[in-house]
Amino acid sequence: KLRDLEEREKKIYKNIMELKGTIRVFCRVRPLLLVDGVGTEGTIISYPTSMEARHRGIDLVQSGQKHSFTFDRVFDDKALQKDVFEEISDLVRNALDGHKVCIFAYGQTGSGKTYTMMGGPKPEDKGLIPHSLEHIFKTSHESEKLGWEYKMQASMLEIYNETIRDLLSTNPSYALDMFWSRGKGHVSAITTVDVCNIEEILSLLQQATRNRFVGSTKMNERSSRSHFVFSLKIFGENKINEQQVQGVLNVIDLAGSQRVSSTLAIGDRLKETQAINRSLSALAAVISALAKKKKHVPYRNSKLTYILEPYLSGDSKVLMFVNISPNPSSGGESLCSLRFAAKVNACEIGIPRVRVDNRRIFYL
Ligand code: ADP
Ligand code: MG
Repeated sequence: KLRDLEEREKKIYKNIMELKGTIRVFCRVRPLLLVDGVGTEGTIISYPTSMEARHRGIDLVQSGQKHSFTFDRVFDDKALQKDVFEEISDLVRNALDGHKVCIFAYGQTGSGKTYTMMGGPKPEDKGLIPHSLEHIFKTSHESEKLGWEYKMQASMLEIYNETIRDLLSTNPSYALDMFWSRGKGHVSAITTVDVCNIEEILSLLQQATRNRFVGSTKMNERSSRSHFVFSLKIFGENKINEQQVQGVLNVIDLAGSQRVSSTLAIGDRLKETQAINRSLSALAAVISALAKKKKHVPYRNSKLTYILEPYLSGDSKVLMFVNISPNPSSGGESLCSLRFAAKVNACEIGIPRVRVDNRRIFYL
């Protein structure tokens, strides 16, 4: 009986996803860690228990008030990397089938963005990028039997204070220019590397990570103050029926969101925070305009949206993770993150209300 219900729930969920189109928001709460310190035992996060809202709702108590949010999927602090990947493997596969896929991680510094995207210290904690690469290469090898041949190219860049750095360049300190051509923004001469296997890409990722540290004394800080963009272009050609596809997987580890009011930022730090907030708002505005299928999408308000335009427009598929720390002292920031994500998620299409009858689903 329970299995039936679960099956039905899955089916409703799938239908909702199809109706909602191509923009999804997943929320992930990281576990409490030693670094959260003592005195953080109190919990401010809870989850609805009803069958209907399970896996999709999250409640946060801040200043004595409860705030409830609903997303396409909510992962609690017990969710494993493989559980998260399971939910997005189909999306990743789309990149092989010729779709443009963009996956973002949004949240304050220390909320688990890099853990979700890249992984943790243990090999079994590998994140979404290594999991995706495994999936892509495995699937592409399987498709060889059907006549498919794939070529892939990787590029990696960083955007800090509205300047772009090519992380695979031999001279990574070089700030790239952007130029307009045929109504679209392009980055000049970004290094793209032909890649044939996972190991090559992982070693490029290591190189990019090292390059992010170059030219900065307090790099941990700096890396959390810049956006990291990983791009894998996939060209597929079928030798039997001559069909061709061109897809791309973009994974973006966003700069840590932070309210200006929560920092005593002055000078450079204030400028950084403002640059980050401006580009994150620009991103939210773009995603929201795409979701509402508006004619005008404001890509030109930030470098981030500017360079992602070719991958966000058209039939692209967008997934945003909102990463949340369970630490009560981060309650204010967490509430801001959830509100931001809710704005992105409130595609104004709204999640349809459904009624389930024995075997059929009715949209009300
Ligand atoms: P961010 O990139 O948002 O600044 P990190 O991904 O670096 O945050 O995470 C901060 C710390 O929390 C790291 O030590 C990371 O390993 C740990 N962490 C984050 N998410 C999880 C998780 N789901 N399970 C276990 N540890 C996590
Ligand atoms: Mg990080």
